[in-house]
Amino acid sequence: MASVSLNNLNKEFGGMLAVKNLSVEIADGEFLVFVGPSGCGKTTTLRMVAGLESLSAGEIRIGDRIVNDFPPGERDVAMVFQNYALYSHMSVRKNLGFALKARKLKGTEIEKRVLRVAKMLDLQELLDRKPRQLSGGQRQRVALGRAIVRNPQVFLMDEPLSNLDALLRLQTRKELIELTGELKSTVIYVTHDQVEAMTMGHRLAVMNEGEVVQLDTPDIVFNRPASRFVAEFIGSPPMNLLEVDITEKESGKCFLSGSFELPVPDKMKSVDETSVILGFRPNEMELVSRGGMAGSVSVVETMGSEKLVYLNVGENTLSILVPSSEKVNQGGNIRFRLKPDALHLFNISTQRRISFE
Ligand code: ATP
Repeated sequence: MASVSLNNLNKEFGGMLAVKNLSVEIADGEFLVFVGPSGCGKTTTLRMVAGLESLSAGEIRIGDRIVNDFPPGERDVAMVFQNYALYSHMSVRKNLGFALKARKLKGTEIEKRVLRVAKMLDLQELLDRKPRQLSGGQRQRVALGRAIVRNPQVFLMDEPLSNLDALLRLQTRKELIELTGELKSTVIYVTHDQVEAMTMGHRLAVMNEGEVVQLDTPDIVFNRPASRFVAEFIGSPPMNLLEVDITEKESGKCFLSGSFELPVPDKMKSVDETSVILGFRPNEMELVSRGGMAGSVSVVETMGSEKLVYLNVGENTLSILVPSSEKVNQGGNIRFRLKPDALHLFNISTQRRISFE
């Protein structure tokens, strides 16, 4: 496998910059996920690496080769798409061996490699079937097998799990993590699904409007989001975000927004701003019987072991995750407390994270 270096990539479509100054170094054996909302430039970036889209500016290096001017076939990458793209008239065996045949490998070598991959992906029993005789999950495994059998320098995957139903997606996700780990593959993976990104990526490149807005491990992206956008996009249910004033009261400094009032924790007292965006995740709030803040329950969503409760606190609506054993009823009033270590602050005009540690 190989490392991949994306250096200042730009892609313009008729005057619109779809990818802007994108620079990411992907290590040999790394699983790097581009994640972001629809239209942010993920697929365009992947297609530039594959050689399916030309660059407006920048440089792509795979291993020690600058591949800007290489056609797709000479880049030694294998792509797996959302829509499988199998040859419908060919058996699974022929689909798996197709790329090797095109490279004029000997028949015995092709058979050996096809059987090895079929065993790896549990496809041995299906080798003589045509794609239409397979389930969605089996087709996706064939598509993966077709990429693996080529033994490429890099795997490029564009939402490969999104056509699968929820349970199959979970199973295939786990298989893909195991398989790419065993093969020590370099993988560039594109998804708009932040849960998929968090569970699969060694690192995430979070994209918005053509730019990488944070590049880090899932843990850091989740716990220290670089901006309001990242805070809102990563994490489910999304983070609560409130525009608050920082006001001096008799009891000390506090965050204030209508009837929402919270003492500023000591470690945040040095923050200069008079207004900030205050963020806290729904699981970082807890119900209390007295003290804290009060809110009225507008909606309760049962989610199995937990309930997601929407609360009106004055003008603001907050969401809070509570154990399903808690008795919370629509229209009722509850009291809650925020865990002080769980607060995030963002600058109102730049929307960037405010550091206080
Ligand atoms: P999705 O998750 O919806 O696939 P994406 O993040 O992969 O979105 P891209 O497909 O990379 O987004 O598209 C980025 C932007 O470039 C979009 O605004 C899209 O409309 C535009 N775009 C993509 N391909 C072309 C093209 N061939 N011609 C013109 N504009 C394009």
